[in-house]
Amino acid sequence: MEIASKRKVGTLKIYINPESNQKLRVIAVDKQKTASVYLDSTFEVVARQKEIEIPFPLSPNKMLIKFESEQKIPLDGIEYVTQIKVIPKQFSKELYDFIDNVLSFSESASYSKLGLYADLKLDYADHVRDSTKKIIDTPARTHVQTGKITVSKALFKTFTIPQRVFTLLHERGHYEYREKYDPNSEQAKREHEKLADDFAIDMYMSLGFPEEEANNVMAKIIPNESYRDGRDQLIDFHTNTLNKLRNLKKYRNTWQKP
Ligand SMILES: [Zn+2]
Repeated sequence: MEIASKRKVGTLKIYINPESNQKLRVIAVDKQKTASVYLDSTFEVVARQKEIEIPFPLSPNKMLIKFESEQKIPLDGIEYVTQIKVIPKQFSKELYDFIDNVLSFSESASYSKLGLYADLKLDYADHVRDSTKKIIDTPARTHVQTGKITVSKALFKTFTIPQRVFTLLHERGHYEYREKYDPNSEQAKREHEKLADDFAIDMYMSLGFPEEEANNVMAKIIPNESYRDGRDQLIDFHTNTLNKLRNLKKYRNTWQKP
């Protein structure tokens, strides 16, 4: 199904009529650009549920929506309701500028050139590598003291746009909390990951992105196997945070240029 979302902020309303509880995967892509995925999330729907609402703080001109489910879910139609944007009041001018650049970089990352993006202090590389040039399996890494971010194009191409936004906000979180960074303490490094995630979640939800995409990406930012235990705890922790935020819904679609 196709929607003329016209690059506007909006909520996608999907009208359904499932006979039983099941999972519905929703994929939304830019019809005109490759590897520009605005959403790829699976929702738990319950029997007789009438609709699903998904927020889109970013949208392409023309959005193609695809559905996947194990049993066929009767679809009564879809609708895109556009909204007026308001700036989250906790954003400083500097943070606003950074986030504005994060959003445009994330939207175009699959076809952007490698190299330095000065406004973001971002080095767009084929892969993130260690000092011996060996590839590290992480989408991004930050020099905590300078805020310089190295991003893996190979991995970013496989991410949805909200997942790229979340990843860049997480990296920014490391810089925001640079005073608390201690490279000599494993405990402090772990704590720093939590601070970076907290920062990213706050900003990401303030921008009105769907929590399902944040959950997906937190599983992808795992930098290495040895870190996995701590990361699982963080994912549990953040699932709780996200559930609380979902209930509040106070941050929905509150974004515009000043
Ligand atoms: Zn991190």
